[in-house]
This record gives sequence, structure tokens and C-alpha cells, in this order.
Amino acid sequence: TECKRRTAGMLAYDPSIDAGSAQTLSLLGELRQAIRGQELRLYLQPKLRLADDQVLAAEALVRWQHPQRGLVPPVQFIPFAEETGFIHELTLWVVDEAARQAALLRAQGLAPRISVNLSAHDLMKPELQQRLRTALQRHGAEPGWLCLEITESAIAHDPQRALQTLHALKAEGFRLSIDDFGAGQTSLAQLIDLPVDELKLDMLFVRTMDQDADKASMVGALVRMGHDLRLSVVAEGVENAAILQRLRALGCDEAQGWHIGKPMPAEELPSWLQARALLASVQRA
Ligand code: C2E
Ligand code: MG
Ligand code: MG
Ligand code: MG
Repeated sequence: TECKRRTAGMLAYDPSIDAGSAQTLSLLGELRQAIRGQELRLYLQPKLRLADDQVLAAEALVRWQHPQRGLVPPVQFIPFAEETGFIHELTLWVVDEAARQAALLRAQGLAPRISVNLSAHDLMKPELQQRLRTALQRHGAEPGWLCLEITESAIAHDPQRALQTLHALKAEGFRLSIDDFGAGQTSLAQLIDLPVDELKLDMLFVRTMDQDADKASMVGALVRMGHDLRLSVVAEGVENAAILQRLRALGCDEAQGWHIGKPMPAEELPSWLQARALLASVQRA
């Protein structure tokens, strides 16, 4: 039972835990070990461009292949990493691996842009830009190969500082996206000032829009607003064909979700893309 209790405690992280507690230190040690021991895995989830049904982008989603606990999803360690500040190391691992994968894909004639999730903590780090640059250079990758996703809450944390950082990242050549839009605390006034290219609608609106007319109306309104602000609008949480069809009718630009493709180990993306192209050619014939 000692072992069981320990496992349960690690997985259901309790933010009230004292930062210096044995449990926190032990999980922090395990996360450090995860990076050193190559236990982190970069999964990629395809993003579909609706205008021509092309997959030209994918989102990087991290998983932890734990030697005892198996594949651990990010909700079970990202909040902890954010709480302890370890997230910055983790972000840099993800950026490095995303740049490596982007270069590998290009060598195979594939050039999807890879989206990477940043945390509030990353935006507050003065050395962020230099460390991103170093990671890209290591793999001969360019900022334009990546899109950086930032949630509304990460911006709300310190809007002025976040804005400054985002302008610098934009000038560096990164594509920028607001993730989980509509679920956080960004005011529309703040949104207008952000140098972003993409608005990613929260799943809250998308997942049930085939059954809930109000949700569909909200998605339609957000698509129009995004377009008026010259932003590309992406819907995530596309779980079935009915949702995809509605998004097309509403003029949404891109879609991501289980119906299109689940997150997969990065190495599997080329064969997934090949199978998809083959299927399309069979369907045309
Ligand atoms: P997110 O960035 O909003 O990513 C979308 C989440 O929705 C992913 O969960 C994805 O697997 C899931 N998803 C995709 N399609 C569908 C669908 O059709 N239906 C449903 N119900 N879910 C779908 P995941 O991979 O568990 O990641 C959860 C969150 O953890 C992410 O939300 C992101 O906030 C965070 N996260 C993941 N990887 C990283 C990372 O490398 N760095 C940071 N800072 N956060 C990360
Ligand atoms: Mg995201
Ligand atoms: Mg999201
Ligand atoms: Mg989310």
C-alpha cells in the first residue's frame, strides 16, 4: 500500500503541497530524471486546413513514458511543473525535440509547421528568446517552422510583460497562437493588442456544437470576429464528421481533433500522412 499511496499522490498532484516537501522534491527529481533519461515523448496531432483538406501543421503534445507508471498524460505533470518553475526546462525540451522533428520531416520532403505550447512562466523568462534561438540552431531549424501557442491565462498573468515578449517572438519570426480562446480571462481589448496570427477556439464551444445550436452560433461569431481581426481561426476538439461539416460551413480555417487524427508519436506522422494521401487518391479514383 505504501507504493500505491505514493503513486496516487504523484499522479494526483495537490497544489497545496508545500514546495519543500519530500513529495514535491521527489517528483521534481523524477521529472529531472525524465529529461536526462529520455523518458519524455513528443506526440504530434495533425491540423487540417479546411480550404483544401491539406495537413500542413501539427501540435506537439508531451507525454511521459514512465518506467513504472507507463505513458503519463500532461495533465498529470504539467500543472506541477508550472507550480515549481520546472516548466521552463520542459518547454525547452519540447522546443528542441519539435525542432529536431521538423528538420527530420523536411529531410523526408514534409514540412508541417509544428505548434508548441508555452506557459505563463516561459513568457516571464528574460532568457526565453535566446534559449529558443539556441534550440532551433542546434537542428538548423527556423522560427517560422514553429507556432507558439499561448493560453489566455498565461497572458492574463502579467499582460504588459506578456505583450512585450510576444512582440519580440513575433519579430524573431515565430508564428503565434492564442490557445483555448474563449475559456480564459483575456478581455477583447487585450486581444486587439496581441501580435498573434491564430485564434484557437476552446473545445468547450467545439466538442458539442453538433448538438447545441448556441455553441454553433458562438463558434460562428468567433470565426467572424477572428477574420475581422485578420486571424486564422482553428477549432480543436473535432470529434466527429458532423462537427467538421459545420466548421466548414462556418468558414473556420483549420480543425484539429480525434475525428481527423489523434496525437501520435512524432515518428509515426510521415506514415500517417502517406496513408491519408493514399486513401484520398483511392477515393478520387
Ligand atoms: P491543449 O494545448 O489545448 O491541447 C489540446 C488537448 O486536447 C490535448 O490533450 C489533445 O490530446 C486533446 N485533444 C485533441 N483532440 C481532441 C478531441 O477531439 N477531443 C478531446 N476531448 N480532446 C482532444 P493533452 O495532450 O492531454 O494535453 C492537455 C494539455 O496539456 C494541453 O492542452 C496543454 O495545455 C498541456 N500541454 C501538453 N503538452 C504540453 C507542452 O509540451 N507544454 C505545455 N506547457 N503544456 C502542454
Ligand atoms: Mg495547445
Ligand atoms: Mg487548446
Ligand atoms: Mg487546453
